[in-house]
Amino acid sequence: MSAFDFERELDALRAQGLLRRRKVADSACGPELAVDGKLVVAFCSNDYLGLAAAPETAQALASAAKKFGVGSGASHLISGHHRLHQQLETCLADFTSLARTLAFSTGYMANLAVITALAGKEDAVFSDSLNHASLIDACRLSRATIYKYAHRDIVSLSNLLAHSNAQRKLVVTDAVFSMDGDLAPLPELLELCDTHDAMLVVDDAHGFGVLGDSGRGTLSHFGIKSSRVIYMATLGKAVGVAGAFVGGEENLIEWLLQKGRTYIFTTASPPALAASTIKAIDLVVRADERRAHLQKLIERFRVQLRPKRWKLLDSQTPIQPLVIGSNSEALAVAEALMNEGLWVPAIRPPTVPNGTARLRLSFSAAHTEAHVDRLTDALERAEAVAHVAIK
Ligand code: PMP
Repeated sequence: MSAFDFERELDALRAQGLLRRRKVADSACGPELAVDGKLVVAFCSNDYLGLAAAPETAQALASAAKKFGVGSGASHLISGHHRLHQQLETCLADFTSLARTLAFSTGYMANLAVITALAGKEDAVFSDSLNHASLIDACRLSRATIYKYAHRDIVSLSNLLAHSNAQRKLVVTDAVFSMDGDLAPLPELLELCDTHDAMLVVDDAHGFGVLGDSGRGTLSHFGIKSSRVIYMATLGKAVGVAGAFVGGEENLIEWLLQKGRTYIFTTASPPALAASTIKAIDLVVRADERRAHLQKLIERFRVQLRPKRWKLLDSQTPIQPLVIGSNSEALAVAEALMNEGLWVPAIRPPTVPNGTARLRLSFSAAHTEAHVDRLTDALERAEAVAHVAIK
Protein backbone atom coordinates (compact mmCIF):
# COMPACT_ATOMS: atom_id res chain seq x y z
CA MET A 1 0.00 0.00 0.00
CA SER A 2 1.34 3.42 -0.96
CA ALA A 3 2.08 5.96 1.74
CA PHE A 4 0.22 8.43 -0.48
CA ASP A 5 -3.20 6.76 -0.58
CA PHE A 6 -5.25 9.94 -0.45
CA GLU A 7 -8.45 8.17 -1.41
CA ARG A 8 -8.25 6.19 1.83
CA GLU A 9 -7.31 9.29 3.83
CA LEU A 10 -10.25 11.22 2.38
CA ASP A 11 -12.59 8.32 3.09
CA ALA A 12 -11.42 8.36 6.71
CA LEU A 13 -12.15 12.09 6.96
CA ARG A 14 -15.59 11.52 5.43
CA ALA A 15 -16.35 8.76 7.93
CA GLN A 16 -15.52 11.12 10.83
CA GLY A 17 -17.73 13.90 9.47
CA LEU A 18 -14.62 15.99 8.89
CA LEU A 19 -14.68 16.38 5.13
CA ARG A 20 -15.02 20.03 4.20
CA ARG A 21 -16.78 21.29 1.13
CA ARG A 22 -16.74 24.75 -0.40
CA LYS A 23 -19.95 26.46 -1.39
CA VAL A 24 -19.72 28.78 -4.37
CA ALA A 25 -21.11 32.29 -3.96
CA ASP A 26 -22.37 34.22 -6.96
CA SER A 27 -23.11 37.51 -5.24
CA ALA A 28 -21.15 40.16 -3.36
CA CYS A 29 -20.45 39.49 0.31
CA GLY A 30 -23.56 40.42 2.30
CA PRO A 31 -26.28 38.90 4.47
CA GLU A 32 -28.29 37.73 1.48
CA LEU A 33 -26.25 35.59 -0.87
CA ALA A 34 -26.70 33.46 -3.94
CA VAL A 35 -24.80 30.23 -3.21
CA ASP A 36 -24.81 27.06 -5.23
CA GLY A 37 -27.75 28.50 -7.18
CA LYS A 38 -29.84 29.21 -4.08
CA LEU A 39 -30.68 32.46 -2.28
CA VAL A 40 -29.80 32.26 1.42
CA VAL A 41 -29.36 34.46 4.47
CA ALA A 42 -25.80 33.96 5.65
CA PHE A 43 -24.50 34.07 9.22
CA CYS A 44 -20.98 33.05 8.30
CA SER A 45 -18.83 35.98 7.37
CA ASN A 46 -16.52 38.19 9.40
CA ASP A 47 -17.84 41.24 7.56
CA TYR A 48 -19.05 42.56 10.91
CA LEU A 49 -19.81 46.09 9.77
CA GLY A 50 -21.27 45.12 6.41
CA LEU A 51 -18.55 47.05 4.57
CA ALA A 52 -17.14 44.30 2.32
CA ALA A 53 -19.22 45.46 -0.62
CA ALA A 54 -19.23 49.19 0.19
CA PRO A 55 -19.36 51.17 -3.08
CA GLU A 56 -16.96 53.81 -1.73
CA THR A 57 -14.24 51.20 -1.16
CA ALA A 58 -14.83 49.57 -4.54
CA GLN A 59 -14.63 53.01 -6.17
CA ALA A 60 -11.33 53.77 -4.41
CA LEU A 61 -9.96 50.41 -5.57
CA ALA A 62 -11.05 50.98 -9.15
CA SER A 63 -9.69 54.49 -9.48
CA ALA A 64 -6.36 53.62 -7.88
CA ALA A 65 -6.08 50.58 -10.17
CA LYS A 66 -6.80 52.78 -13.16
CA LYS A 67 -4.02 55.16 -12.13
CA PHE A 68 -1.41 52.73 -10.81
CA GLY A 69 -2.33 49.38 -12.38
CA VAL A 70 -2.69 46.20 -10.42
CA GLY A 71 0.60 44.52 -9.63
CA SER A 72 3.21 45.95 -7.27
CA GLY A 73 5.97 44.17 -9.18
CA ALA A 74 8.21 43.20 -6.28
CA SER A 75 8.53 42.83 -2.55
CA HIS A 76 8.47 45.93 -0.32
CA LEU A 77 12.22 45.97 0.27
CA ILE A 78 13.02 45.74 -3.43
CA SER A 79 10.77 48.06 -5.43
CA GLY A 80 7.19 47.13 -4.56
CA HIS A 81 6.65 49.65 -1.74
CA HIS A 82 4.29 52.28 -3.12
CA ARG A 83 3.34 55.70 -1.75
CA LEU A 84 -0.15 54.23 -1.13
CA HIS A 85 1.29 51.49 1.13
CA GLN A 86 3.14 54.19 3.01
CA GLN A 87 -0.04 56.25 3.38
CA LEU A 88 -1.97 53.23 4.62
CA GLU A 89 0.60 52.61 7.36
CA THR A 90 0.38 56.23 8.47
CA CYS A 91 -3.41 56.09 8.41
CA LEU A 92 -3.43 52.94 10.58
CA ALA A 93 -0.92 54.41 13.05
CA ASP A 94 -3.05 57.57 13.35
CA PHE A 95 -6.24 55.58 13.83
CA THR A 96 -4.82 53.25 16.49
CA SER A 97 -2.53 55.84 18.16
CA LEU A 98 0.33 53.35 17.83
CA ALA A 99 3.75 54.82 17.07
CA ARG A 100 4.19 52.96 13.80
CA THR A 101 2.55 50.21 11.77
CA LEU A 102 3.63 47.76 9.09
CA ALA A 103 1.10 46.45 6.56
CA PHE A 104 1.04 42.78 5.57
CA SER A 105 -0.72 40.81 2.82
CA THR A 106 -2.65 38.66 5.33
CA GLY A 107 -3.10 38.25 9.05
CA TYR A 108 -1.64 34.77 8.84
CA MET A 109 1.57 36.19 7.44
CA ALA A 110 1.64 39.02 9.97
CA ASN A 111 1.45 36.56 12.86
CA LEU A 112 4.20 34.40 11.36
CA ALA A 113 6.43 37.45 11.00
CA VAL A 114 5.88 38.80 14.49
CA ILE A 115 6.57 35.65 16.45
CA THR A 116 9.45 34.36 14.37
CA ALA A 117 11.14 37.78 14.39
CA LEU A 118 10.82 38.16 18.15
CA ALA A 119 11.41 34.66 19.50
CA GLY A 120 13.98 32.00 18.72
CA LYS A 121 15.46 28.83 20.15
CA GLU A 122 16.52 30.36 23.47
CA ASP A 123 13.14 31.94 24.07
CA ALA A 124 9.70 30.97 25.35
CA VAL A 125 6.23 31.68 24.02
CA PHE A 126 3.16 31.37 26.20
CA SER A 127 0.09 30.72 24.14
CA ASP A 128 -3.63 30.57 25.08
CA SER A 129 -4.98 27.09 24.35
CA LEU A 130 -7.65 28.50 22.01
CA ASN A 131 -5.42 30.75 19.95
CA HIS A 132 -5.92 30.95 16.19
CA ALA A 133 -4.09 28.46 13.97
CA SER A 134 -1.84 31.18 12.55
CA LEU A 135 -0.50 31.97 16.03
CA ILE A 136 0.00 28.27 16.77
CA ASP A 137 1.92 27.81 13.53
CA ALA A 138 3.94 30.96 14.20
CA CYS A 139 4.96 29.68 17.63
CA ARG A 140 6.04 26.35 16.12
CA LEU A 141 7.98 28.04 13.36
CA SER A 142 9.87 30.24 15.83
CA ARG A 143 11.49 27.16 17.43
CA ALA A 144 10.99 28.78 20.84
CA THR A 145 9.77 26.57 23.70
CA ILE A 146 5.99 26.65 23.63
CA TYR A 147 3.91 26.73 26.80
CA LYS A 148 0.19 26.39 26.27
CA TYR A 149 -1.86 27.91 29.09
CA ALA A 150 -5.50 27.08 29.80
CA HIS A 151 -7.92 29.37 28.00
CA ARG A 152 -7.94 32.86 29.61
CA ASP A 153 -6.38 31.37 32.73
CA ILE A 154 -4.22 33.99 34.43
CA VAL A 155 -3.16 31.69 37.26
CA SER A 156 -1.98 29.00 34.88
CA LEU A 157 -0.03 31.60 32.86
CA SER A 158 1.42 33.21 35.96
CA ASN A 159 2.82 29.86 37.13
CA LEU A 160 4.37 29.14 33.77
CA LEU A 161 5.97 32.58 33.55
CA ALA A 162 7.31 32.37 37.09
CA HIS A 163 9.09 29.08 36.33
CA SER A 164 10.60 30.17 33.02
CA ASN A 165 14.17 31.35 32.76
CA ALA A 166 14.01 31.89 29.02
CA GLN A 167 15.86 34.85 27.63
CA ARG A 168 12.82 36.42 26.03
CA LYS A 169 9.22 35.70 26.89
CA LEU A 170 6.28 36.37 24.61
CA VAL A 171 2.68 36.00 25.73
CA VAL A 172 0.50 35.43 22.71
CA THR A 173 -3.27 35.75 22.57
CA ASP A 174 -6.29 36.34 20.38
CA ALA A 175 -8.04 39.49 21.66
CA VAL A 176 -11.46 38.15 20.61
CA PHE A 177 -11.32 34.37 20.28
CA SER A 178 -12.30 33.41 16.78
CA MET A 179 -14.41 30.34 17.56
CA ASP A 180 -15.67 31.33 21.04
CA GLY A 181 -16.25 35.07 20.70
CA ASP A 182 -15.00 35.84 24.21
CA LEU A 183 -12.35 38.42 25.10
CA ALA A 184 -8.86 37.81 26.41
CA PRO A 185 -8.28 39.41 29.84
CA LEU A 186 -5.80 41.87 28.31
CA PRO A 187 -5.29 44.14 31.37
CA GLU A 188 -4.41 41.14 33.54
CA LEU A 189 -2.18 39.65 30.84
CA LEU A 190 -0.36 42.93 30.52
CA GLU A 191 0.18 43.14 34.27
CA LEU A 192 1.77 39.68 34.21
CA CYS A 193 3.96 40.75 31.28
CA ASP A 194 5.10 43.77 33.27
CA THR A 195 5.96 41.58 36.25
CA HIS A 196 7.89 39.03 34.19
CA ASP A 197 9.44 41.35 31.60
CA ALA A 198 7.50 39.67 28.80
CA MET A 199 6.00 41.14 25.62
CA LEU A 200 2.30 40.74 24.84
CA VAL A 201 1.31 39.81 21.28
CA VAL A 202 -2.35 40.68 20.71
CA ASP A 203 -4.19 39.35 17.66
CA ASP A 204 -7.21 41.60 17.26
CA ALA A 205 -8.51 40.11 14.01
CA HIS A 206 -12.08 40.05 15.35
CA GLY A 207 -12.06 43.18 17.54
CA PHE A 208 -10.61 45.76 15.17
CA GLY A 209 -13.41 47.86 13.67
CA VAL A 210 -15.97 46.46 16.09
CA LEU A 211 -14.81 47.18 19.64
CA GLY A 212 -13.42 50.32 21.27
CA ASP A 213 -13.82 53.99 20.50
CA SER A 214 -14.96 54.31 16.84
CA GLY A 215 -13.88 50.70 16.26
CA ARG A 216 -10.25 51.30 17.27
CA GLY A 217 -10.19 47.75 18.61
CA THR A 218 -9.74 45.79 21.79
CA LEU A 219 -6.81 47.85 23.17
CA SER A 220 -9.07 50.89 23.02
CA HIS A 221 -11.93 48.85 24.54
CA PHE A 222 -9.75 48.16 27.60
CA GLY A 223 -7.99 51.56 27.56
CA ILE A 224 -4.58 49.91 27.10
CA LYS A 225 -1.53 51.80 25.94
CA SER A 226 1.79 50.08 26.54
CA SER A 227 5.14 49.65 24.88
CA ARG A 228 4.94 45.96 25.85
CA VAL A 229 2.13 45.35 23.40
CA ILE A 230 2.63 44.17 19.83
CA TYR A 231 -0.69 44.68 18.13
CA MET A 232 -1.88 42.77 15.05
CA ALA A 233 -5.20 43.39 13.35
CA THR A 234 -6.62 42.17 10.07
CA LEU A 235 -8.19 44.25 7.33
CA GLY A 236 -10.35 41.57 5.70
CA LYS A 237 -12.93 41.26 8.45
CA ALA A 238 -14.72 44.34 9.88
CA VAL A 239 -12.73 46.61 7.56
CA GLY A 240 -14.05 44.64 4.62
CA VAL A 241 -10.95 44.61 2.38
CA ALA A 242 -7.93 42.29 2.81
CA GLY A 243 -4.58 42.22 4.56
CA ALA A 244 -3.39 43.04 8.04
CA PHE A 245 -1.04 45.28 9.99
CA VAL A 246 1.21 45.12 13.00
CA GLY A 247 1.57 48.14 15.25
CA GLY A 248 3.82 49.11 18.12
CA GLU A 249 6.90 51.06 19.10
CA GLU A 250 9.03 52.57 16.36
CA ASN A 251 12.05 50.27 16.85
CA LEU A 252 9.94 47.16 17.22
CA ILE A 253 8.32 47.82 13.86
CA GLU A 254 11.70 48.61 12.29
CA TRP A 255 12.96 45.25 13.62
CA LEU A 256 9.97 43.52 12.07
CA LEU A 257 10.65 45.20 8.75
CA GLN A 258 14.27 43.99 8.91
CA LYS A 259 13.55 40.46 10.14
CA GLY A 260 9.96 39.49 9.35
CA ARG A 261 10.41 36.82 6.70
CA THR A 262 6.79 36.87 5.55
CA TYR A 263 7.16 40.61 5.06
CA ILE A 264 10.48 40.48 3.27
CA PHE A 265 10.11 37.48 0.99
CA THR A 266 6.76 38.13 -0.60
CA THR A 267 5.46 40.40 -3.32
CA ALA A 268 3.84 43.57 -2.01
CA SER A 269 0.04 43.57 -2.33
CA PRO A 270 -1.48 45.74 -5.09
CA PRO A 271 -1.13 49.44 -4.19
CA ALA A 272 -4.78 49.95 -5.19
CA LEU A 273 -5.74 47.65 -2.34
CA ALA A 274 -3.99 50.04 0.05
CA ALA A 275 -5.99 52.93 -1.43
CA SER A 276 -9.25 51.07 -0.87
CA THR A 277 -8.23 50.16 2.69
CA ILE A 278 -7.58 53.83 3.49
CA LYS A 279 -11.10 54.58 2.27
CA ALA A 280 -12.48 51.65 4.29
CA ILE A 281 -10.83 52.93 7.50
CA ASP A 282 -12.61 56.21 6.91
CA LEU A 283 -15.89 54.26 6.74
CA VAL A 284 -15.01 52.33 9.92
CA VAL A 285 -14.42 55.58 11.82
CA ARG A 286 -17.85 56.82 10.77
CA ALA A 287 -19.66 53.55 11.50
CA ASP A 288 -20.99 54.21 15.02
CA GLU A 289 -24.55 53.62 13.85
CA ARG A 290 -23.56 50.31 12.30
CA ARG A 291 -21.81 49.23 15.50
CA ALA A 292 -24.88 50.19 17.57
CA HIS A 293 -27.19 48.26 15.23
CA LEU A 294 -24.88 45.24 15.37
CA GLN A 295 -24.91 45.30 19.17
CA LYS A 296 -28.72 45.43 19.14
CA LEU A 297 -28.88 42.39 16.86
CA ILE A 298 -26.55 40.45 19.14
CA GLU A 299 -28.68 41.29 22.18
CA ARG A 300 -31.88 40.38 20.33
CA PHE A 301 -30.44 37.02 19.37
CA ARG A 302 -29.26 36.23 22.89
CA VAL A 303 -32.55 37.22 24.47
CA GLN A 304 -34.58 35.18 21.98
CA LEU A 305 -32.56 31.99 21.78
CA ARG A 306 -32.84 29.83 24.89
CA PRO A 307 -31.30 26.50 23.88
CA LYS A 308 -31.97 23.50 26.10
CA ARG A 309 -30.01 20.74 24.46
CA TRP A 310 -27.22 22.90 23.05
CA LYS A 311 -25.09 25.57 24.70
CA LEU A 312 -24.85 29.17 23.63
CA LEU A 313 -21.43 30.39 24.77
CA ASP A 314 -21.08 33.55 26.82
CA SER A 315 -20.09 36.04 24.13
CA GLN A 316 -21.00 39.69 23.67
CA THR A 317 -19.25 39.98 20.31
CA PRO A 318 -20.65 39.31 16.81
CA ILE A 319 -19.27 35.75 17.10
CA GLN A 320 -22.03 33.72 18.76
CA PRO A 321 -21.09 30.05 19.10
CA LEU A 322 -23.77 27.44 19.69
CA VAL A 323 -22.00 24.31 20.90
CA ILE A 324 -23.70 21.15 19.67
CA GLY A 325 -21.11 18.51 20.57
CA SER A 326 -20.88 15.79 17.97
CA ASN A 327 -19.64 16.42 14.44
CA SER A 328 -22.56 14.59 12.88
CA GLU A 329 -25.22 16.49 14.82
CA ALA A 330 -23.57 19.84 14.07
CA LEU A 331 -23.52 18.94 10.38
CA ALA A 332 -27.14 17.76 10.44
CA VAL A 333 -28.28 21.01 12.06
CA ALA A 334 -26.34 23.11 9.59
CA GLU A 335 -27.96 21.13 6.79
CA ALA A 336 -31.45 21.55 8.25
CA LEU A 337 -30.87 25.31 8.45
CA MET A 338 -29.60 25.38 4.88
CA ASN A 339 -32.81 23.68 3.80
CA GLU A 340 -34.63 26.66 5.30
CA GLY A 341 -32.39 29.07 3.41
CA LEU A 342 -30.11 29.92 6.35
CA TRP A 343 -26.39 29.45 5.94
CA VAL A 344 -24.55 28.80 9.18
CA PRO A 345 -21.19 27.03 9.27
CA ALA A 346 -20.67 23.89 11.33
CA ILE A 347 -17.20 24.17 12.86
CA ARG A 348 -15.53 20.90 13.71
CA PRO A 349 -12.17 19.68 15.00
CA PRO A 350 -9.35 20.47 14.53
CA THR A 351 -10.63 24.06 14.37
CA VAL A 352 -12.29 23.50 17.77
CA PRO A 353 -11.52 20.88 20.46
CA ASN A 354 -12.93 17.36 20.03
CA GLY A 355 -16.51 16.97 21.18
CA THR A 356 -17.27 20.70 20.86
CA ALA A 357 -18.45 20.89 17.26
CA ARG A 358 -20.56 23.97 16.95
CA LEU A 359 -22.43 26.40 14.82
CA ARG A 360 -20.41 29.58 14.60
CA LEU A 361 -23.04 32.22 14.04
CA SER A 362 -21.64 35.56 13.09
CA PHE A 363 -23.62 38.75 12.85
CA SER A 364 -23.12 41.76 10.66
CA ALA A 365 -24.47 45.29 10.82
CA ALA A 366 -25.98 44.51 7.41
CA HIS A 367 -28.35 41.96 9.00
CA THR A 368 -31.87 43.04 9.91
CA GLU A 369 -33.96 42.13 12.93
CA ALA A 370 -36.09 39.98 10.61
CA HIS A 371 -32.96 37.98 9.65
CA VAL A 372 -32.22 37.33 13.33
CA ASP A 373 -35.81 36.29 14.01
CA ARG A 374 -35.77 33.83 11.14
CA LEU A 375 -32.59 32.35 12.52
CA THR A 376 -33.80 31.92 16.10
CA ASP A 377 -37.10 30.37 14.91
CA ALA A 378 -35.26 27.89 12.69
CA LEU A 379 -32.78 27.00 15.46
CA GLU A 380 -35.60 26.28 17.88
CA ARG A 381 -37.24 23.98 15.36
CA ALA A 382 -33.93 22.22 14.64
CA GLU A 383 -33.27 21.72 18.34
CA ALA A 384 -36.70 20.18 18.88
CA VAL A 385 -36.11 17.76 15.99
CA ALA A 386 -32.63 16.81 17.26
CA HIS A 387 -34.09 16.19 20.71
CA VAL A 388 -36.74 13.82 19.37
CA ALA A 389 -34.30 12.07 17.02
CA ILE A 390 -31.93 11.25 19.85
CA LYS A 391 -34.62 9.92 22.24
N1 PMP B 1 -6.02 35.69 13.49
C1 PMP B 1 -7.29 35.34 13.74
C2 PMP B 1 -7.76 35.34 15.15
C3 PMP B 1 -8.14 34.98 12.68
O1 PMP B 1 -9.40 34.62 12.93
C4 PMP B 1 -7.63 35.01 11.37
C5 PMP B 1 -8.50 34.67 10.16
N2 PMP B 1 -9.51 33.80 10.32
C6 PMP B 1 -6.31 35.37 11.16
C7 PMP B 1 -5.52 35.71 12.23
C8 PMP B 1 -5.71 35.35 9.79
O2 PMP B 1 -6.04 36.52 9.12
P1 PMP B 1 -6.09 36.52 7.53
O3 PMP B 1 -7.40 35.92 7.16
O4 PMP B 1 -5.97 37.96 7.15
O5 PMP B 1 -4.93 35.70 7.07
